[in-house]
Amino acid sequence: MNKKDYQQQYYIDHREGIRERRRLWWIAQIETYRGEKRQKRQVENMSKINKVTLNRWRWKRRLHLISLLGSKCRKCGIDDPRVLQINHINGNGIKDYKKRGSNGLYNDILSGKRRKDDLELLCANCNVLYEYEQGRRYAGLGLDKD
Ligand SMILES: [Zn+2]
Repeated sequence: MNKKDYQQQYYIDHREGIRERRRLWWIAQIETYRGEKRQKRQVENMSKINKVTLNRWRWKRRLHLISLLGSKCRKCGIDDPRVLQINHINGNGIKDYKKRGSNGLYNDILSGKRRKDDLELLCANCNVLYEYEQGRRYAGLGLDKD
């Protein structure tokens, strides 16, 4: 019996077993594929939910913080929370953020651990102008004066 005939004979003799093993192998492949897809989808959904929840939570905290600090820009009076920023009156902002991170800083203010009389609200525009006035930004074209 040559090799080809032997293989054919073997197949005929073991047909059921071979088919069954092949079927099981395919089922396993499909299950793995489905499992991976499901897992991927779950991870995607999770991160989507977390992002939305986190974002909402951050905004709630921000709004709370803004209300504690007077709810409007000290200079121009705009009260849209989307443009309001916390300004350090004596310019220690970077040091403060480095020490505690914005998260830690916000939490400290909200929990009353940190005083807030050296903080004020400015809108994004007024904040930039304030930095020019303080000499922390410099255009050098005679535009820097108030
Ligand atoms: Zn303003």
